[in-house]
Amino acid sequence: MALKTADEERNELHSYKLAGRDYRPENTIIQIHHNAVGGGEPAIIAGPCSVESEAQIIETARLVKEQGAHLLRGGAFKPRTSPYSFQGLGEKGLKLLRKAGDETGLAVVTEVIDTTDIALVAEYADVLQIGSRNMQNFRLLKAVGRLNKPVLLKRGMAATLTEFLLSAEYILAEGNWQVILCERGIRTFADHARNTLDLNVVPAVKAVSHLPIIVDPSHGTGRRDLVEPMSLAALAAGADGLIIEVHPRPEESRSDAGQTIGPAQFSRLMDKIRRFIEWQKAYAEAAHTY
Ligand code: PEP
Ligand code: MN
Repeated sequence: MALKTADEERNELHSYKLAGRDYRPENTIIQIHHNAVGGGEPAIIAGPCSVESEAQIIETARLVKEQGAHLLRGGAFKPRTSPYSFQGLGEKGLKLLRKAGDETGLAVVTEVIDTTDIALVAEYADVLQIGSRNMQNFRLLKAVGRLNKPVLLKRGMAATLTEFLLSAEYILAEGNWQVILCERGIRTFADHARNTLDLNVVPAVKAVSHLPIIVDPSHGTGRRDLVEPMSLAALAAGADGLIIEVHPRPEESRSDAGQTIGPAQFSRLMDKIRRFIEWQKAYAEAAHTY
């Protein structure tokens, strides 16, 4: 591969304008009802990979709320690798997710996979997720850019930092500034985990962009046993939040069972997160570094 010249590199970097710190030096804070993403304490988004039934999503919403999560996740339109895998409950799933959010007071995040579904998804969701597989679906990016709703943009599994920010730029350029970036692991030769969670990208994004960035340790590892350590590592790297797959009975999950944690593990993780935040505050006070 030919190396880029310094000028080429600079031009490429400057091809994202609105997403850059040159354009907006201060951190962008995204308000989702009474929660803020960016700048403050980390936002915790939790819930199942897929909405499966009313009982499942209500039970999950209650348990994650009780443990201190700020937002509820749950897929209704699922981008599955195999056409024979569970594809999600569609509109019924959106309705159940909304109901669970309303009952618990949690804002809800769900994925939109096609431009034709945007109006429907926006009717029920507080935050629209663009999945990894669609990070460069430019028509989808432009269309959510015309909404007045926060967008959670997941990094493509082979996207560079610049490509990631250029995808965010598509949304910003249409007028929607409410973009939350999400690192969810990239494809590498490593075969001990589903993906390689690239925590380098968190401080690297922060150095050049004002947009908040959260981390998905569930898809980033594909392994339930790695979710807790990588969640804590993500916060130590400066992530503005986490999105974690949680199910009342993880082994029964209709999608991503192997990376989904249960109530006891989530409770333990939330406890550790609280302790970490306390430690960070105390450290900052003592060191006057923040
Ligand atoms: C998901 O969040 O369930 C999902 C499909 O994520 P990703 O697009 O990161 O694979
Ligand atoms: Mn999933």
